Amino acid sequence: MTFTTRFAPSPTGPLHLGHAYSALLAHDMAHAAGGIFHLRIEDLDQSRARPHWEAQIADDLHWLGLTWPEPAMRQSDRGAAYAQALAQFEARGLLYPCRCNRADIDAAAGAPQEGVPQFGPDGRIYPGTCRNRPMADRQPEDVIRLNIARATEALPALTFTETGAAFAGTHALNADDLQTTIGDVILERRQMAGSYHLAVTVDDAAQAITHVIRGEDLFDATRIHVLLQHLLGLPTPTYHHHRLIRDDAGKRLAKRDDARAIARYREDGLSPADIRKLVGL
Ligand code: GLU
Repeated sequence: MTFTTRFAPSPTGPLHLGHAYSALLAHDMAHAAGGIFHLRIEDLDQSRARPHWEAQIADDLHWLGLTWPEPAMRQSDRGAAYAQALAQFEARGLLYPCRCNRADIDAAAGAPQEGVPQFGPDGRIYPGTCRNRPMADRQPEDVIRLNIARATEALPALTFTETGAAFAGTHALNADDLQTTIGDVILERRQMAGSYHLAVTVDDAAQAITHVIRGEDLFDATRIHVLLQHLLGLPTPTYHHHRLIRDDAGKRLAKRDDARAIARYREDGLSPADIRKLVGL
C-alpha cells in the first residue's frame, strides 16, 4: 500500500508555526516513503471558515515547498458521504437527537465522583439526558449523538498502532473505557454536514490515508475514530501524533497567535529553511 498521508487545516485563521511543522513533517514522511501527501480543507464550520484563509494557507504551504494532488478535498463538498455514514448508524439504532446546550450538560453532570472522569476529548462527557429520544423526534436545533453503549456492544478486539514518540506502541480499545472516558460523542452538529469525528473518519478512508500524522492534542480522539472505522467497516490507518510547537511561555500555539503566523515570518524575510530550523526539522 502506498504510504498516504494528509495535512488537514481548518481555514479559520492563518497558518502558524505549529501547522507548518505538522505539514512539513507529514510531507517529509510521505516523501521519504515514496508516498502521497494530501491537503484536506476542514471547513465544516462554515460560520468560521473563510476563503481568504484557505487561499493564504495554500500559498504559505506552496512557499514552504509543499505540493499535493489538486484539487484538495474540501469537507464542505462532502455532505453526501457524511449523510451516508450517518444513515448506516441510524439504521442500526445507534443515534439520537440531543437538544442540550452546554449549561444543560453542566447542570445534569452533577457533582464530580471520585475516580469517574468528567471530561473527554470533546469536553464534558455527556450525561445522557436525551439518550432515549428517538430520531423521529429530531428538531432542526438538535445535534446528533452516538449511543456509545450500544455502539460498543459485543465490541471485538480493536487496536491501533501509534508511532509518535509520546505514545508509541499498540493501543487497545475497551468498551467500558470508551463509555466512561468518551461517552456519547456528537456526529452531526447544528448547521454542519457532520462533526469533526465523523468527517475525519470518512475522509481518511475516502483518501486511502495509511498514516495519520497530526498533533498530540488529537491522540485522545483517536479511539473515537478507530471505533467509527470499525462500525463503518473502514480500515484503520497507522497514527503518528507529533509534539506540539509551543510559544516561549510553553503554551500551545493557537490560530489567534498572529505573531507566529507563517505570513509574518515571510514578511520579515525568513526563508522556508529558516522555518524548518525554527520547528526543529
Ligand atoms: N482540522 C484539525 C485541526 O486543524 C486537524 C484534524 C486531523 O488532523 O485529524 O486541528
